[in-house]
Amino acid sequence: MQGPKITFEGGEFINFASNDYLGLAGRPEILAAAKTAIDAFGFGGGASRLLGGGSVLHHNLEQRVAEFKSAEAALIFNSGFAANTGIIPCLASEGDALFSDELNHASIIDGCRLSKAKTVIYRHCDVGHLRELVEREKAKRRIVVTDTVFSMDGDIAPLKELYALCLSLTSGPHGRGSLLLYLDDAHGTGVLGSGRGALAHVSLSPKPWIVQMGTFSKALGSCGAFVAGSKEAVEWITNTARSFIFSTAAPACIAAASLKALELVEQEPELNCKLWHNRHMLADALREMDFDTGGSETPVIPLKMDSVGAALDLSAYLFDKGIYAPAIRPPTVKEPRVRIAVTAAHSDEDIASLIDALSDRMKQSARITSR
Ligand SMILES: *Cc1c(COP(=O)(O)O)cnc(C)c1O
Repeated sequence: MQGPKITFEGGEFINFASNDYLGLAGRPEILAAAKTAIDAFGFGGGASRLLGGGSVLHHNLEQRVAEFKSAEAALIFNSGFAANTGIIPCLASEGDALFSDELNHASIIDGCRLSKAKTVIYRHCDVGHLRELVEREKAKRRIVVTDTVFSMDGDIAPLKELYALCLSLTSGPHGRGSLLLYLDDAHGTGVLGSGRGALAHVSLSPKPWIVQMGTFSKALGSCGAFVAGSKEAVEWITNTARSFIFSTAAPACIAAASLKALELVEQEPELNCKLWHNRHMLADALREMDFDTGGSETPVIPLKMDSVGAALDLSAYLFDKGIYAPAIRPPTVKEPRVRIAVTAAHSDEDIASLIDALSDRMKQSARITSR
């Protein structure tokens, strides 16, 4: 089971690779909700949602998500990957332009490819560069697409600046049509803004020109994804997103699990507090040890290394100490790193074990270099 511990080849390890940020994947309340739904609705989704598939739980979940995101409407997808590859081509087509952060998730990259729109890549989180590219682009419809939290670096997109840029071009005297903002909040949902996501984190409210996507598969410990936005946008997506229309509804038990997870996020704010407590405890210690954690501001913390060898060595060293933290190498990322994901399910002792192991390692390598 997902949790703070993971078993490999008979050995138990503290797991620092899970995106189950709130430790919900194994929560008895969620398992019970899923089991009850299996008894009531059976397992298979039956058919596509538009052809009578799904259940009342799917509808309830959509309503619940809309409330949770303070949006007019929401639609659920079977996965985050299906959401991005389905929605982006609905929003942009031939003759339009998509502006995509260079470190966006693979599913966004594929969504852009499927859209037939021109895709313009801007430098990571560089709003100045983005503005230049946007102003140069003559397309009628222009859409900025970004991860809110970048999954390999743990940094947060410059949301306020992106919002201001889109707002200035949407309400200004520009005759060329507006600028839409598409946010992938996969790692922000349940994590940022007391769980409500990236916009809440920066105290911005939803706008008709913002489309928010998020997943149930990470902090919510379930499966699937959602899009939340204006009624008009969600209706359009419902009737045009191919990964929604031509895919069988997810089992009702998954909707039940996601519903329960949202309820727990609202009822137990202490989960989110524990997550951030753990994050700060670890990040403070890493800073003192002079690790290069890049621009990480979230529970995803990369330990950037000079070489692939160094990343593999550190990961193997931690593994020997009973700690699972995988090395991530090119081409997945440009700079090799050990990627740490801290969760609310880690105990103070789990975090201390990681800090102690890293500290021992630093002392060892300091001894080697000073010899
Ligand atoms: C994980 C992830 C997805 C895909 O979500 P799944 O539900 O796992 O398919 C999409 N976008 C980002 C940024 C992700 O991290």
